[in-house]
Amino acid sequence: MSIASNLNTIKASLPEHVTLVAVSKTKPVTDLMEAYEAGQRIFGENKIQEMTDKWEEMPKDIQWHMIGHVQTNKVKFMASYVSLIHGVDSLKLLQEINKQASKNNRIIDCLLQIHIAEEETKFGLDEKELTSLLASDEFHNMKNIQVRGLMGMATFTENQNQIKKEFTHLKSIFNSLQATETVNCKLNTISMGMSGDYQLAIECGSTMVRIGSSIFGGR
Ligand SMILES: *Cc1c(COP(=O)(O)O)cnc(C)c1O
Repeated sequence: MSIASNLNTIKASLPEHVTLVAVSKTKPVTDLMEAYEAGQRIFGENKIQEMTDKWEEMPKDIQWHMIGHVQTNKVKFMASYVSLIHGVDSLKLLQEINKQASKNNRIIDCLLQIHIAEEETKFGLDEKELTSLLASDEFHNMKNIQVRGLMGMATFTENQNQIKKEFTHLKSIFNSLQATETVNCKLNTISMGMSGDYQLAIECGSTMVRIGSSIFGGR
């Protein structure tokens, strides 16, 4: 199957309220351009250098999403153009994004990554860290970031019940935060679901799916 037909099949299966991020990490620009020609405008990458190279080379109406773990000292390389940062998991990182956004006269949209998986290896805030971050004066004083929602990754397992439990947990955290709207925090996005589990994620309340291998093939 071609990239364009994979993309069209997936797009046709998504409810209207769900946004598709085409995860193009490790893939060459020619592959991304095939998706672009088929109408895709949102691409997800997990390495800042690779994303920046592709941003330089490709049409400027693309929205670039950083979906990987972000090192504080690399935020500056994407601050002028990144459209959404999914993996924000500390106040320190948020402060650096705010600082670099300010230097670029921008407001950068962010998602807070929540640790929902059983595995120790996945990044993310726990509920207590999330609550204290959102309640902190440092957070309230940030004028150049907007927290748009939450992101999570389920445990890498075949066990659908386990995955469902973790997605449902993220959705319930999201629901519990609906009351905490502030100037720089308006939660309307739940980024969860990848090639293997996006249908389940949508059933559990996802509004943004990050799909790579089902569009571009294996890596
Ligand atoms: C690679 C990646 C994806 C896409 O994974 P596929 O299984 O290829 O769809 C989604 N989210 C994150 C954070 C990733 O790193």
